[in-house]
Amino acid sequence: MQTIPIRNVGEPTGLIDRFQRQYVYLRLSITDVCNFRCNYCLPNGYRPPEHKQRFLTLPEIQRVARTFAHLGTEKIRLTGGEPTLRKDFLDIAHTIAQTQGIRQLALTTNGYRMARDVALWKEAGITHLNVSVDSLDPREFHLITGENKLGEILSGIDKAFEIGYPKVKVNAVLMKQYTAKNLDDFLRWIQHRPIQMRFIELMETGEMDHFFHQQHLSGQSILERLVQEGWQLQTRDLTDGPAKILKHPDYQGEIGLIMPYEKNFCASCNRLRVSATGKLHLCLFGEEGVDLRDLLQDDSQHLQLEQRLKSALQGKREHHYLHLGDSGVRNNLASIGG
Ligand code: SAM
Ligand code: SF4
Repeated sequence: MQTIPIRNVGEPTGLIDRFQRQYVYLRLSITDVCNFRCNYCLPNGYRPPEHKQRFLTLPEIQRVARTFAHLGTEKIRLTGGEPTLRKDFLDIAHTIAQTQGIRQLALTTNGYRMARDVALWKEAGITHLNVSVDSLDPREFHLITGENKLGEILSGIDKAFEIGYPKVKVNAVLMKQYTAKNLDDFLRWIQHRPIQMRFIELMETGEMDHFFHQQHLSGQSILERLVQEGWQLQTRDLTDGPAKILKHPDYQGEIGLIMPYEKNFCASCNRLRVSATGKLHLCLFGEEGVDLRDLLQDDSQHLQLEQRLKSALQGKREHHYLHLGDSGVRNNLASIGG
C-alpha cells in the first residue's frame, strides 16, 4: 500500500472551514445495525431499508482513516448503530489504530459485549471508551433500551478499569422521566469512580412523535443544580469539543453536559462525520451528506478524496438551526452515529 506523508505535530490541519474552525476529530460510523431499541433512538429496533445497504469495507475504512489522518485528523471515534456487532470489528480497530497520525481511537458502544471483550478492544488499540447508560435502575434501563442488560454493562465498565483504562465516559440522554430524577444515583455512582458522566440533551429526530416534547429537558437546569451543589465549571480542552465539563472536590468522577440547543454550541465544533455507507456529514443536523465511496476504491485516489473533503468543508454552515425549530430532521441518530 502506498505511503501518504503525514503532517507534523503543531502544523495546521488541512481541514479548516470558512469560520477558521479546524477539524481534528472524525466520528466514523461502521454500521447502522443495532441490537438495542432505545426509546429516543430506535424505538422499534433496527429495520433494514428496502434497498440493501453495503457498509464500508475494511479497505475502504482504512482509506478513510489514512486520508483524514493526512489532513490532520488525530482522533477517530467508532460509532454506529452498535459498532461492536461487526464481525470484523477488531480488525477495523486494529487497522485504524495503526494509521500514522491517529493518536486517539475512541469507541461509543452500548456496552453489551464489553464485559466479554474489553481486553480485546484494548489490545486492538482502542484508547478511549464511551458507554451509554441511561439509568442505573435495571427495570428502567430495560424500559429505555429494550434490553435487560444493565448488570452486564456495569461489570463491563468495572472490567475496563481493571484492565487499565484510566477513565471511562458514560453517556446518558437527558429525559424528564428518567435521567433528571435519577441525577443523585449517577452522582453517587461516580463519587469514587473515574467516570466522566456525560448528560446529552435529547435531540429531536424524525422517528419521534410526541416523545421529544414530552421528554426534552434543557441541560441548563442540571447545570444550575450542580453549580449550587459545589460543582465547578472547567475551562474547555480542545478535545472536549462542545461539552461543558464540571468537577467537584469530593468526587473522583466528572460531569459533562452536551447542550446542542444552546446558542454558540457550534462555535467549538471540531468534528466531522462519515456514515456507515461512506457519506461525509458536515453536521449532525440537516444536510444530505457528500458521497465519498467512489473515491474509496483504490489507494491511488487519495488526492482526489482530499480535494473532495476540503471543498465540501467550505459548505459547512456556521451553526445549525435547531434553536429556530429546524430539527434538520434525521430519522434517528443510529444512522449517523450520534
Ligand atoms: N450504539 C452505541 C451507543 O448507544 O452508545 C453508539 C451509537 S449511539 C447513536 C451514540 C450516542 O447517541 C449514544 O450515546 C446515544 O445515547 C446518543 N443518542 C441517540 N439518539 C439520541 C437522541 N435522539 N438525542 C440525543 N442523543 C442520542
Ligand atoms: Fe442502538 Fe445506540 Fe441507538 Fe441505543 S442509542 S438504539 S444502543 S444505536
